[in-house]
Amino acid sequence: MVAFRPGSVGELCEALTEPGACWIEGSGSSASFRVGSTAGARTVRLDGLSEIVDLDPANQVAVVQAGASLQKLQTALETVGHCLPYDPYLGAGTVGGALSMNLPHGLEAKHGSWRDWVLGLTVARPDGKLARCGSRVVKNVAGYDVAKMFVGARGWLGVVAEVILRTFPRPHPPAACLEQGAPLSAGPLWIQRTLPQDAIAAREAAGDRLCLFDPGTFTLVAALPCDESLPRFDGDWVLRRGCGNQNAVVEEAMQRRLMLRAKAIFDPDGKLNPGEWGEL
Ligand SMILES: Cc1cc2nc3c(=O)[nH]c(=O)nc-3n(C[C@H](O)[C@H](O)[C@H](O)COP(=O)(O)OP(=O)(O)OC[C@H]3O[C@@H](n4cnc5c(N)ncnc54)[C@H](O)[C@@H]3O)c2cc1C
Repeated sequence: MVAFRPGSVGELCEALTEPGACWIEGSGSSASFRVGSTAGARTVRLDGLSEIVDLDPANQVAVVQAGASLQKLQTALETVGHCLPYDPYLGAGTVGGALSMNLPHGLEAKHGSWRDWVLGLTVARPDGKLARCGSRVVKNVAGYDVAKMFVGARGWLGVVAEVILRTFPRPHPPAACLEQGAPLSAGPLWIQRTLPQDAIAAREAAGDRLCLFDPGTFTLVAALPCDESLPRFDGDWVLRRGCGNQNAVVEEAMQRRLMLRAKAIFDPDGKLNPGEWGEL
């Protein structure tokens, strides 16, 4: 089915009021990380909402539409002497897609990631109404920081339309210090982050399947067929690519309950990205 590409936030909201399930896409580059199937859902692709709304280096703030490519954002920031310290292991995609996936990246140990950088969001709710959370300042009031719930939510709770980000003065941070192994192929990947004390054992277990190891965040990426697993360690997490419903398995009962509660509150009719978190 041909994707619908809203050209404005109003068009996005209108599209969401139409009946039926929607599959949200930035540029679609992380399709191989999906758990759910897009069959039967209408694809709404955000890459037409790509405006850089405001750059405010004096206050270390950028406001950008979610469908803007990361490259476009970095180029714009460069013109005002700023950057976002994000160095993806592979690919790039859109701002909204990257924050919704919240995958590991090479500068994370030194400079944090999306949960540190997102100050505020404008979100199109599944009923087509707009909601705003956060603001241009680093939050310092009591209560939940709702914007953070959308980081890593994989489009399950609402459609991010606009993002307020914290930016950093250049010079661009040094390139990530990653140990490189086998080239990252298009095939299945095993991505694992352990506690520091288990990192060496995990890395050794990957053997010659290791593609890269980030000693700053104790994260490894290995080329591993879907019917194989590497050893697990207390407190670790694993994501897979190219393995369908094994791509993201939420193991903690408490976390599963919390995610289901959040879904029931934000998207009670299950309109957005059905099945993206598998059987919770
Ligand atoms: C180990 C590893 C391997 C990688 N492999 C690849 C690769 O092979 N190719 C590649 O290009 N990138 C790859 N990446 C990078 C990563 O997949 C993308 O950079 C990032 O996910 C953004 O892509 P996108 O904009 O195309 O998002 P999409 O792939 O379109 O979407 C990603 C997720 O976010 C949701 N989403 C997107 N936009 C929004 C929004 N505005 N609001 C709410 N939800 C939204 C989608 O529903 C989906 O669940 C890899 C990263 C790592 C760490």
